[in-house]
Amino acid sequence: MAEDTIIQWCDDTVNPIMGCSGCELFRKPRQITTKIDQALIKLKVKGWERGTAWKLFSDLIDEVFQKIDTPGIGHINAVTTTNIFHLKGEFSERVARNHGGDAGAIAQRIIKRSLKCYAAKLHLNRGYNIQKPNRKVKKGYAPTFEQVTQFPGRMEQAARKSDLLGQPRSSKPWMNGLPRLIFVSDMGDALSHRDDFAFLCNELEHTQTENGKRHLWLWLTKRPEVMRDFGRRIGGFPDNICAMTTVTSRSTLSRVEMLRKTDAHVRGLSLEPLWSDVADQLDLTGIDWVIVGGESGAKDDVAAFPIEWALDVQTLCREQGVAYFCKQLGRCPTRNSEEFSLQDLLHGGDWDEWDSDLRVREFPEQFHTYRQSEI
Ligand code: SF4
Repeated sequence: MAEDTIIQWCDDTVNPIMGCSGCELFRKPRQITTKIDQALIKLKVKGWERGTAWKLFSDLIDEVFQKIDTPGIGHINAVTTTNIFHLKGEFSERVARNHGGDAGAIAQRIIKRSLKCYAAKLHLNRGYNIQKPNRKVKKGYAPTFEQVTQFPGRMEQAARKSDLLGQPRSSKPWMNGLPRLIFVSDMGDALSHRDDFAFLCNELEHTQTENGKRHLWLWLTKRPEVMRDFGRRIGGFPDNICAMTTVTSRSTLSRVEMLRKTDAHVRGLSLEPLWSDVADQLDLTGIDWVIVGGESGAKDDVAAFPIEWALDVQTLCREQGVAYFCKQLGRCPTRNSEEFSLQDLLHGGDWDEWDSDLRVREFPEQFHTYRQSEI
């Protein structure tokens, strides 16, 4: 459990489940190899055809795997996104040797850009690595990101955290007075597998104990259709759980509809990293909270974030009476198409550096009224 997280919209995070089965920020292996094939076929690389990247990775992984004396639980002889990422250097070198330097560089770039999820990056660095079989694996993580793993007891531990109702937050004054806000599932997507429903039901009971009811639990998923079904199973989410999903571009806007169908007292939308202008297609009916943010990361790997996109969403929220929270401007913010840089280079999350029209960090009315009778 991460205490005092730097994430601007919560106090802590908790992960009853670590790992994830992927999304647009962590591509499936077949999507990555197909993209490599398409790029190298377009480049007219001699001898490259559909399926070549998969075959090369498959052979390379098998070769590396066979050298491991005693494979661990996370050493897997299969084309997985984790293996692709760990072997990207060797793969690109082979491609460069046999098909030219440009082909190798393109393949390497495609792989790097296929992986943007922060939780996945931490797992890649801390979990099993087929290329470094003797590397010490960090406790508390899934063996590899795709091996979604339950961690019983974490919700209970989080529920025992001290009560923050009425308390100031020195580094996050916009949260002053609110109950403790606990972000559920920042190190994976707990709703990756429906098989975990029974486990999650048990874990969720800790949000409804005397301890757990003191806090607000903000549960984020990229699988709102699974969250909707889970909500049905438990007879609707209790009023101290905010059901949330993420939209990164127009192509994932359908998640909002699924979230709307989730039986919850309060619903939140995270538009981070935002890769396209969505305001004109965003229906906020039934949505109580919108978080907006540009993409973090190395400059070459992130998309620009025109702050006009954030301002348009802010206007929409104003018009529809929805709480709006600007989390960060990301690594490449632009205004009037002009790029500008901030001291907080990687994330652009220090609002003291922003123009005043951007400095808005609100929470849903339900957060403010929850337990207010106790004050
Ligand atoms: S943890 Fe979230 S961002 Fe990362 S791959 Fe899973 S769904 Fe995507």
